[in-house]
Amino acid sequence: SLQEVTRLKKLINDLLHITRAEHPRLINEEKTDISETLHQLVKNLEIVHPDYNLFLEVGQRLPKIPISRQHMEQIMIILLDNAIQYSSNNKEIWITAMLEGEEMIISVVDSGIGIRSEDLAKVFNRFYRVDQARSRENGGTGLGLSIAQRLIKKYNGTISIESQEGVGTTVKMALPCSI
Ligand code: ATP
Repeated sequence: SLQEVTRLKKLINDLLHITRAEHPRLINEEKTDISETLHQLVKNLEIVHPDYNLFLEVGQRLPKIPISRQHMEQIMIILLDNAIQYSSNNKEIWITAMLEGEEMIISVVDSGIGIRSEDLAKVFNRFYRVDQARSRENGGTGLGLSIAQRLIKKYNGTISIESQEGVGTTVKMALPCSI
């Protein structure tokens, strides 16, 4: 069926992302303006998802961060796509970026369906999806967060997730400002 084809296409695309993320030549000297990248992303997402309210809060004069813009965008799209996909009636999503010591902290906060504590530790596992039945109609592969985590690790960063069922989810990442 068409749905199955779409799902397989997405799977192949995700697997390509993993392969690229593991390539040793991936890391270059590129530095990215996080504020500009986030503003651009939000602007684009608002066009595709006019029924959502995306709030962006970025600190002033943030330094450029050693990460490729393409990877930064890829990570953010994974997180924002999840925040949108697993939202509930409350379609507000908060994105913040600020400096904390030598690290850039970026977080995505939604007020969506949340994740049960017993599932929380597994969401970074490849192919893991909470509640198969509910997730299936959305057609994801369960690879998004594991790809995001791999990419962030490449840049010596960390990613963590906090969630409460029925309340919402916060995904936070920390990226070093210098290598
Ligand atoms: P895709 O490969 O399309 O991203 P996916 O969203 O299922 O598929 P992940 O991004 O790895 O895969 O997420 C794994 C699981 O974690 C999801 O299936 C979902 O159950 C849960 N999850 C992730 N983000 C959120 C969120 N913001 N709110 C609620 N549940 C979430």
